[in-house]
Amino acid sequence: MSASPGSRPQLRIAIIGTGFGGLAMAVALLRAGISSFVILDKDSQAGGTWAANTYPGCECDVPSHLYSYSFAPNPRWSHVFSPQGEILDYTRDIIRRFGLEAHIRLNSQVTGARFDEARAVWTLSVAGQPDLEVDVVVGATGGLSRPVSPDFAGLESFEGTVFHSARWRHDVALDGLRVGLVGTGASAIQIGPAIASTVGALTVFQRTAPWILPRDSSEYSPLAKAAFARVPALGWLHRQQIYWTLEARATAFLHEPRLLQLAEGIAHRHIRRGVRDPALRQKVTPTYRMGCKRILMSNTWYPMLERPNVSLQTEGIERVEPRGIRTRDGRLHELDAIVMATGFQAADAAAPFPVAGRGGAQLETLWATDAMAYKGTTVGSFPNLFLIVGPNTGLGHSSMIFMIESQVAYVLSAIETMRRDDLASVEVRPEAVEAWNVDIQRKLGRTVWESGCAAWYRSSSGRNTTLWPGFTWQFRLATRKFDSDRYVVRRRAEVFAPGES
Ligand code: NAP
Repeated sequence: MSASPGSRPQLRIAIIGTGFGGLAMAVALLRAGISSFVILDKDSQAGGTWAANTYPGCECDVPSHLYSYSFAPNPRWSHVFSPQGEILDYTRDIIRRFGLEAHIRLNSQVTGARFDEARAVWTLSVAGQPDLEVDVVVGATGGLSRPVSPDFAGLESFEGTVFHSARWRHDVALDGLRVGLVGTGASAIQIGPAIASTVGALTVFQRTAPWILPRDSSEYSPLAKAAFARVPALGWLHRQQIYWTLEARATAFLHEPRLLQLAEGIAHRHIRRGVRDPALRQKVTPTYRMGCKRILMSNTWYPMLERPNVSLQTEGIERVEPRGIRTRDGRLHELDAIVMATGFQAADAAAPFPVAGRGGAQLETLWATDAMAYKGTTVGSFPNLFLIVGPNTGLGHSSMIFMIESQVAYVLSAIETMRRDDLASVEVRPEAVEAWNVDIQRKLGRTVWESGCAAWYRSSSGRNTTLWPGFTWQFRLATRKFDSDRYVVRRRAEVFAPGES
């Protein structure tokens, strides 16, 4: 990643994260003829969330033909919703096919980043390694990469094993054990049915009943897979069909939350079919408007709750004791292991390491109240830093890969502009960030996410800092091209004396 003397230096780029975001950025750079980059990842294997989440039953609840890159269709997806291992294999295949191995540095945890204004460079501290100096940083550390476990009173006294869904302990055999599953979100409803038949007893601790719709568990037939492989246009059409079906549903989320009552009817029927016991039916019936929290899909969760070795507790957790969990009704639920399927630090997340920008500005301080960026990607006072899956880029209705590819196109356009115009730095103007975020919050006001529920979409200030309040194609249009007029740009000639590089 060095420049040859006398030539215009190549921009040195560090991508942080080998999940879908980081890999997409790397492929885009290579396809644009830019190879002066490195991809750092704290983990020992690439793949981001799909490498980290290995819990039993883990799969994607977005159809695979859309939850994959547009530039690398996979005709071989086994199911409409494919399992984790298959998605991880897909990311590995991307790494191989596009020759990314040489750029990836695993076991490389970035512990800090600071911008040197005088030289317009970023210095990354990497645990146990020499500092790394680059011109551009692309943070692709993922919106849901930092697990959160509630700090229940007495947790440390528990004599059994405790672990988070995203840090599954494969060395702990749960077979025959009394297991407590805390949470009933997207992860929990996949884990429960996957372990219920082998554990001794499963006690589910539910705080809020989620909305659950029937799930399409169909497999693609060998004929369909052969057709997708032989005629790529068929796969493309299938992808379009999925995309536009999901996009049509966004109308209800964004503009007419009352329309979601139709889907609530389907979910109520799903409960009646899946649960016979009227008391249990009542416990699992949600009390908020569907869509306000992520809508879940499962055909196995409700029947699982009626298994003789499964019980659903809704009284709330009082504390953890050496032998189990005591609920607010005073009962002690004896357990050998506790699985925390309690989600991730999302809305309040800054960067997972200290980031010091121009003039020593700290990202953590800037985002102490609320995370905010321009187009979810750039932040004032942090030149040459681009975030993939930054604030307000998340979705409740479609595939994050579409958003990732939109952001990647924007970042690539920025990098190409920097190369073409010989720019040392680009820094978004505060008024651009302000206007973008005022518009986002105005649009959010009409959406189902503001219908009154406590979801991880909101920061502690109550502001929704995670979701994109529009159609995904609107985000695609907004991020088509780097808009340098919204940025303070510094030419290399202004930063470096002649001869310097
Ligand atoms: P989550 O949706 O945040 O769910 C966490 C669960 O833990 C909720 O039921 C929550 O209850 C409960 N909980 C949290 N703190 C608690 C406490 N102190 N006491 C009792 N219960 C508590 O987390 P997740 O299931 O891991 O999913 C997170 C996100 O990851 C999803 O929304 C989705 O975007 C993604 N995900 C995707 C897939 C997929 O198939 N694509 C699969 C898994 C996850 P409340 O509802 O009351 O807060």
